[in-house]
Amino acid sequence: MPQSKFYITTPIYYANDKPHVGHAYTTVAADVLARYWREKLGKDNVFFLTGTDEHGQKIAEAAERSGQQPDQFVDSLMPAFQERFAALNVSNDIFMRTTKRGHIKFAQEFLAELKARGYIYKGEYEGIYCVGDEAYIAESDLVDGKCPHHPNLTPEKRQEENYFFKFTEFAPRIKELIESGELEVRPEARRNEVLARLGGDLHDLSISRPGLEWGVPVPWDDSHTMYVWVEALLNYASALEIESLPSLWPPDVQLMAKDILWFHAAIWPALLLANERTLPKTIFAHGFFTIDGQKMSKTLGNVIDPAELVEEYGSDATRYFLLSAVPFGNDGDLAASRFAEIYEADLANGLGNLLNRTVTMLNRAELKLATKPTSFTEVEQAIENLEFDKGLKLIWDVVREANKDLEVAEPWKLIKDTENREQLEQVLGRAFGQLEKIAAGLKVYLPETSAKIVHQLETGKAESLFPRQ
Ligand SMILES: [Zn+2]
Repeated sequence: MPQSKFYITTPIYYANDKPHVGHAYTTVAADVLARYWREKLGKDNVFFLTGTDEHGQKIAEAAERSGQQPDQFVDSLMPAFQERFAALNVSNDIFMRTTKRGHIKFAQEFLAELKARGYIYKGEYEGIYCVGDEAYIAESDLVDGKCPHHPNLTPEKRQEENYFFKFTEFAPRIKELIESGELEVRPEARRNEVLARLGGDLHDLSISRPGLEWGVPVPWDDSHTMYVWVEALLNYASALEIESLPSLWPPDVQLMAKDILWFHAAIWPALLLANERTLPKTIFAHGFFTIDGQKMSKTLGNVIDPAELVEEYGSDATRYFLLSAVPFGNDGDLAASRFAEIYEADLANGLGNLLNRTVTMLNRAELKLATKPTSFTEVEQAIENLEFDKGLKLIWDVVREANKDLEVAEPWKLIKDTENREQLEQVLGRAFGQLEKIAAGLKVYLPETSAKIVHQLETGKAESLFPRQ
């Protein structure tokens, strides 16, 4: 069926600290898709959600450390996300917050419906809980007694009375749906991990916690709050209720980092199946970045704040660094120490120089060409397939080719002799066409740059596209 609407989500980020480059990565990738589909389907048929997850113990504790009430604390952190995303030209249609009243109401109704359908029961839970993940972890996953993701935290042994969701009842159906491709989980390696886990030893999911104040009360028992993960996942549905856009359901693409894939590819669909809702179409987990070969960590002091990158290099250059770094879906390295070099080579010398000499030569030759609607089909295919780095590579192939063409044809020499006029016009016409194609390809990747290219081609006013650092 051809795409008639497009609903894209990033995770709602846990608002216990300011955002880093990993948050920016997911969000900018989602932005490329949102912009792309708006071009194809019109803006009313596209909805792009990002936001913050604002409940849970980890936030209550972080608030306490900072001497604030949890609600004040999340209010104080939220702008750090909004400002950074705005600085990166992220075009989200909603900034979702789980403290929104409409979300809380929706989450409670959803849970009550699960209970009414017989999928909730009360039981005893005993296990090892990692506050860093806000999740129980299997004893077999511990490394030296610590959570592999959070070696600085001590996992807690917990025994409590919880409400449980009959997750195991839905696991076989989810496995089938993933196997048949009806629920697409990508990339392949991650899909296989989810399938293996779905085929293994599974337990029902504890969906409430007693005595935690910072959360959404279980509607029939306010001594319990909803498990923060279940509540947070529901934001993807509550957002459309809040915005009165039910026709955009279900999500077409849901992006996230690989560490939270299980929640999105197994638990989330189980919750939806239980209440007979349509499932998302594609769940895509991207990899982790190392920074110059090292794990990103506060202790190493190599956590990159996207705001600093934008400050130093601008919004589009930052988008370029992030999306060109590794094939989307793979782990890889973000070569922060090479950003200046990449900026010079690819952006200032590569694309910037191409535009500059083309516009300058068109002026000198007093050649006025009209821009026309152009598309870059291979780049569009790459974007539809979530191969963001591939799309950029295809565009930069044209940049290189066009620069080489100018260097070989040497229009700056051709212009000296009127006998070469025809050849000169051909060379410049070709460069003009290649820049139009580049601008078309870049429109959703580097929106400011694309607009500047078109503007300079139209007006003939040469201005530096990427100022030298
Ligand atoms: Zn952990």
